[in-house]
Amino acid sequence: MMTELLGKSKEELREFCAALGEPAFRGAQIYHALYSERKFDVAQITNLPAALRERLSKEARITLPELKQRFASTDGSVRYLFGLPPSEERLVRPASVEAVFMPSEGRQTICVSTQAGCAVDCHFCMTAQLGLIRNLTSGEILAQVLVPLEEHKAQLAPQTNIVLMGQGEPLLNFEPVMVALRIMLDPEGLGISPKHMTLSTSGIVPGIERLALEKVRPKLAISLNASNDEQRDRLMPINKKYPLSVLMSVCKEYPLRTWEHLTFEYVMLGGVNDAVEDARLVVRLLTPLKRVKVNLIPWNPGELPYRESSPERIEQFRQILVGRGVPTFVRYSRGRDVMAACGQLALLQVERRSFSVISPQ
Ligand code: SF4
Repeated sequence: MMTELLGKSKEELREFCAALGEPAFRGAQIYHALYSERKFDVAQITNLPAALRERLSKEARITLPELKQRFASTDGSVRYLFGLPPSEERLVRPASVEAVFMPSEGRQTICVSTQAGCAVDCHFCMTAQLGLIRNLTSGEILAQVLVPLEEHKAQLAPQTNIVLMGQGEPLLNFEPVMVALRIMLDPEGLGISPKHMTLSTSGIVPGIERLALEKVRPKLAISLNASNDEQRDRLMPINKKYPLSVLMSVCKEYPLRTWEHLTFEYVMLGGVNDAVEDARLVVRLLTPLKRVKVNLIPWNPGELPYRESSPERIEQFRQILVGRGVPTFVRYSRGRDVMAACGQLALLQVERRSFSVISPQ
């Protein structure tokens, strides 16, 4: 049986090589070649002895998800549609997920998906309409970063930002997500700085508690989107399971690093959650917390039955928060800012940059 190498940790690759009767350090060489040098064919890992490469070509493989389509924006962004095989255990249907590569001055931002579809059912999110199709493997999550980086290698900026804000709730696919993130954050792997990686959650409290215990972890963003339980129950039914008092209490205990802020994302839905009273309630929710910031995300009208808040209303909302000491930003702009809420919402915003189809491969 062929062993899949993509998604394996350094330790797993060392064990794999040891099981082949090879020195374990060969596993570290494969790890470096795969994740740092983005060599997707064992024949390219030329610092391995020829006999081992020959053996690996028969016993191991590196499988990237099928690139079904690329959509290019005039501003240089590229949206990737990856086809995924059905999950073997549960025989669920084949699926596809999207990743978005967004270049900007001095950096590129890649938005990745962690599940095909999503079970969380946020009412402002297109992914919710798919339901959960299946969890992605660590290799499928890593590929969404490796493929765009490799394709753009001639023009890469020094800094890479990763945002886990594509399809899916990352904290409901915890282990594969963490395996992928540890490899991304490892200086010997992809070498992404934790300051440049953000995981956005709808507020899965046990997942936040688990993430808090991780030695290596990204920054955390909470998709808040409401000022009180009644409103949040309607927009994000997950709130019935983890209401605001419970969510805020886990946020209060969250161990922020010295350089870190806890980010709250708030999609401004006209006439739903954008009143002056909402702003005051958000202040009341957040003032007991240390080092928070808020991103207000103007809603882009589309297929879902919500309307945008006026720019004046958004500015009034922002000023109320800032006036009470809550740093608050309006995220109109591109790059990671356009991906500031989890789920297909962000992808909808990207779609409006008039992508055109370019050929796969
Ligand atoms: Fe899932 Fe995120 Fe969409 Fe909510 S916003 S349904 S958590 S993908």
